[in-house]
Amino acid sequence: MAKETLGFQAEVKQLLQLMIHSLYSNKEIALRELISNASDACDKLRFEALNHASLYENDGELAIAVSFNKDARTLTIADNGIGMSREEVISNIGTIARSGTKEFFSQLSGDAKKDANLIGQFGVGFYSAFIIADKVTLTTRRAGAPATEAVRWESAADGEFTIEAVEKAGRGTEIVLHLKEGEDELLSDWRLRSIIKKYSDHITLPIRMQKAPGYDKDGNVEISDEIETVNQASALWARPKSEISDEQYNEFYKHVAHDFEDPLAFSHAKVEGRQEYTELLYIPARAPFDLYDRERRHGVKLYVKRVFIMEDSDKLMPQYLRFVRGVIDSADLPLNVSREILQHSKDIEQIKSGCVKKVLGLLESMATSDEQAEKDKYAKFWKEFGRVLKEGVGEDFANKDKIAGLLRFASTHLDTNEEVVSLADYIGRMKEGQDVIYYITADSFAAAQHSPHLEVFRKKGIEVLLLGDRVDEWVVSSLHEFDGKKLQSVAKGELDLSKFEDEEEKKQQEAAASDLKDVVEKVKEVLADKVKDVRITHRLTDSAACIVVDNADMSANLERLLKSAGQ
Ligand code: ADP
Ligand code: MG
Repeated sequence: MAKETLGFQAEVKQLLQLMIHSLYSNKEIALRELISNASDACDKLRFEALNHASLYENDGELAIAVSFNKDARTLTIADNGIGMSREEVISNIGTIARSGTKEFFSQLSGDAKKDANLIGQFGVGFYSAFIIADKVTLTTRRAGAPATEAVRWESAADGEFTIEAVEKAGRGTEIVLHLKEGEDELLSDWRLRSIIKKYSDHITLPIRMQKAPGYDKDGNVEISDEIETVNQASALWARPKSEISDEQYNEFYKHVAHDFEDPLAFSHAKVEGRQEYTELLYIPARAPFDLYDRERRHGVKLYVKRVFIMEDSDKLMPQYLRFVRGVIDSADLPLNVSREILQHSKDIEQIKSGCVKKVLGLLESMATSDEQAEKDKYAKFWKEFGRVLKEGVGEDFANKDKIAGLLRFASTHLDTNEEVVSLADYIGRMKEGQDVIYYITADSFAAAQHSPHLEVFRKKGIEVLLLGDRVDEWVVSSLHEFDGKKLQSVAKGELDLSKFEDEEEKKQQEAAASDLKDVVEKVKEVLADKVKDVRITHRLTDSAACIVVDNADMSANLERLLKSAGQ
């Protein structure tokens, strides 16, 4: 096929411009991202080859090669991974098919510094090549395809790319960066090695470079064509904790999570017992764009004895912990384990439940820490992922109490929409004689906060949780009590607040009851079958009347939600 010129999707064009102009001070990440992709490509080959060993084409030794050419001013990153077909090149490297893309672009401010953060969060991966290169040439052949069916993609980030058919003997991808003016410092053996050490040491495959030039015993420069491995090339999670620096943990996270930012927290442990496995699990600092997207791309990676098996977004972590990233490496599962086997595997169930406990434990240790820094981390976590964690109360019966302990709510105590009150905090502030946890649900925080149902509680100084999110309805429909205290809606049933009343109030109420008896009868007559009952209430102090539902009935808010969902 002849050489074709195609235009980038508008979003890609915009992204490239932004990258070039706001990330120019992050040149080292270009190498990191390309090596990370090369490693992913080898993982993908391994996974596909589980069922199609011929894809290895008699070359099963997967590796990444980094080289440079001072005269041509190019830097090359090559892998013998899965490679890409023509269609794959066009869809993977010319378009961004990701949910949240539109919102992402609408959030950009034009302020390079702020936008640089956002771009990182969006994950720019391959395109970061254009931070250091003014032209990128990618040549790739998909494993299993004939040598004549390779593809060359080339672009100078000017809105277009070319694509043509070429020959390539080895499978996999080779990326040549034609460096920008002024980026010559990267054409240095020492510099490249130090970048690889710093950012890609955790890569499990060997990253190879030509042996650095040395001097012979007469002091003459000796150039060797020997190839050597630059990184440790051993699984980071399998190394002892004491030998892993925070920086290495962070860089590994960025690779497995496709994130640019450091993680918020992590848990690394070797578990022995009925199942033997190692887990290295991270909680990101920021919610990804596709947190609410069913077609999420990333999840936790499963390895068996250091061999990558697959990345999975729902079998290794429950839905409500779908933001967790990292690896689980089993010592017991068979190497040829398939997606289908995993689906019904008791072993996986056990590993999953062990890992869930670890993650919940990690959250708990932040939440209950005496150190302010840890507490702040938990508050940050809650802002990003609290809504998702709330789903767990209904989803994970076995860990319901633990999850309930991690929940944070807004309440009348601070009377702001900040979700900072735990159920334990609430219980600690309960009035003498109070034995239930009061809450109100509504379709927004403001509606909850201004509900007439709260009047009497405010007057008596009884705290009420203000639940204004859709997911809160599901929380209270699955969580009936915490620490022996029932959860009670202030908008449901008869409220008995008599213990909080003094004699004077009681007398007043009795008098009111007999005074208003006729009025109530009249209202009942008028509303007839529209209501179940009409009662005198003491739950209001300023409003004249309000609607309540029976304890056993659906809350008015849930009824609205279901109606709006078409039920
Ligand atoms: P991400 O790695 O987060 O998916 P990137 O922008 O880094 O995003 O890469 C985009 C896609 O391009 C990858 O998902 C992959 O499908 C493809 N890709 C990039 N580099 C390679 C490579 N070396 N070999 C095979 N496919 C690649
Ligand atoms: Mg990538």
